[in-house]
Amino acid sequence: MIKGTGRPVYEGVAIGRIFVHSKAHTVTNRKCADISRELELFNEAKEKARAELEELYDKTLREIGEEQAGIIEVQSLFLDDLDYIEGIEDMIKQGSNAAFSVHEIGDAQASAFAALDDEYMKARATDIRDISDRLIRILTGAEPGFRMEEPGIIVAEDLTPSETVALDKDKILAFVTRQGSSNSHTAILARVMNIPSLVLTDIDIDPQLNGRTMIVDGFAGNYYIDPDEETLAAMQDKKKRAGEYKAGLENYRGKPSVSKSGRCVKLFANIGSPDDIKYVIEGDAEGIGLLRSEFLYLGRDSFPTEDELFEAYRKVVEAMNGKKVVIRTLDIGADKKVDYFNLEKEENPALGYRGIRICLTQKDIFRTQLRAIYRASAYGTVAIMFPMIISVKEVEEIKSFCAQIAGELEAEGVRLNPVELGIMIETPAAAVISDLLAEHVDFFSVGTNDLTQYTLAIDRQNEKLDAFYEPHHEAIMRLLKLIAENAHKHGIWAGICGELAGDLSLTDEFLRMGYDELSAAPSRILQLRKNVIESEV
Ligand code: PEP
Ligand code: MG
Repeated sequence: MIKGTGRPVYEGVAIGRIFVHSKAHTVTNRKCADISRELELFNEAKEKARAELEELYDKTLREIGEEQAGIIEVQSLFLDDLDYIEGIEDMIKQGSNAAFSVHEIGDAQASAFAALDDEYMKARATDIRDISDRLIRILTGAEPGFRMEEPGIIVAEDLTPSETVALDKDKILAFVTRQGSSNSHTAILARVMNIPSLVLTDIDIDPQLNGRTMIVDGFAGNYYIDPDEETLAAMQDKKKRAGEYKAGLENYRGKPSVSKSGRCVKLFANIGSPDDIKYVIEGDAEGIGLLRSEFLYLGRDSFPTEDELFEAYRKVVEAMNGKKVVIRTLDIGADKKVDYFNLEKEENPALGYRGIRICLTQKDIFRTQLRAIYRASAYGTVAIMFPMIISVKEVEEIKSFCAQIAGELEAEGVRLNPVELGIMIETPAAAVISDLLAEHVDFFSVGTNDLTQYTLAIDRQNEKLDAFYEPHHEAIMRLLKLIAENAHKHGIWAGICGELAGDLSLTDEFLRMGYDELSAAPSRILQLRKNVIESEV
């Protein structure tokens, strides 16, 4: 038996046969005598790739959503990218065969993109590798894609966006990849599909693994190849219990989230894009507690227009049919870099120019977003919250700017609904002065991810510090208690929208503190409701 570990991105246990997903193109440099024929072959391959991508775009749009389909669209743009295409053509003109030229130029350009600081540009490395692989496959006549004859576990170095969408989703029991991150395409797909998966594993991608039995334990972050009988029995039992638990959760669908002693807490969902609405409905969330607006700005190369933002917000607000939607204004900066914002490189980006600091100093960006949100308010129940607040002064400035925007829209004859204005409490400063801040806002929502990072002085992105990152730290618990107390003293509601809200070991504690709302991943809602209903608090 081989046992290994990785970072779990979705809970559950899967047992099945391994399907190794490898890109074993052996591309050799062959001098070609007929250069114009080779250029012609390259052009034909380009057009075939374009047609394949168009088909894939439609399939992705139908099966997954607009956001993922956009990734496929970006790839077809490389087929017209002069640097890429002319680089390949130049190599062919110097006598190399087309497949080798694509391989060399693709590799060089992908490495150059991967070395850039900007997260959006870095991600383009995967797109270049993906399109190059496609061209090479067409040029070498290799088997198209990868097939699974029966359900199984996919083991791969990493999966590119077009590889993930081309998979036969009904047959995938789990993903195990060597690379990737919690936000890689594989991880996102795993969460969307509710299948256990591990990224950043220590597995050797060896074709000899094909067909062997594997167990993926997405709870503990372990995998087992050729498990011994004892492990197999233990894991089968764990899988059975997980299945029973999940089926049992269906009893909590549609029930009010009230504890035994009558404490009522709203269970809301966190989302990043309008495409996630289906999971909010599936998860039975009572509203949206955090719509991370920055995702509407990522993955593109210019600012979204007011109308584009309005359409995205309206779609979410309308779909929620009157249930509350808390929209967080842009929290760009730190780990979320966007090229067209032209942000300077900083020594300490997490402590730098981010979130509300950008909005308050670049009011045109803030104005566009606020106008879009206020316009969307007419379609349901909207609340706005502001990230990274540290002072009353900021809140006063924000409120007067919001009043100005709402006034302008009304003067233009635009219909608006009342909008609650709240703040995220995610800096120790905001937590400590939450009594003063509560006088100025309608609600608090605690961002425990950043509150933990800033209180413990631990970079939340640094894997080396995982052992020190302790969200249950007494300092965090005391701040959470203080924030809820100060909110209630001033008659406003308080929620939690950081990862801690979904921590099932803390539900009782949050009820005791008096939190009015917990906002977590959509797939967490039924579990949280079970905890609330069974709580004695
Ligand atoms: C948080 O900081 O807890 C939070 C919800 O915001 P984000 O994770 O987007 O920084
Ligand atoms: Mg935050």
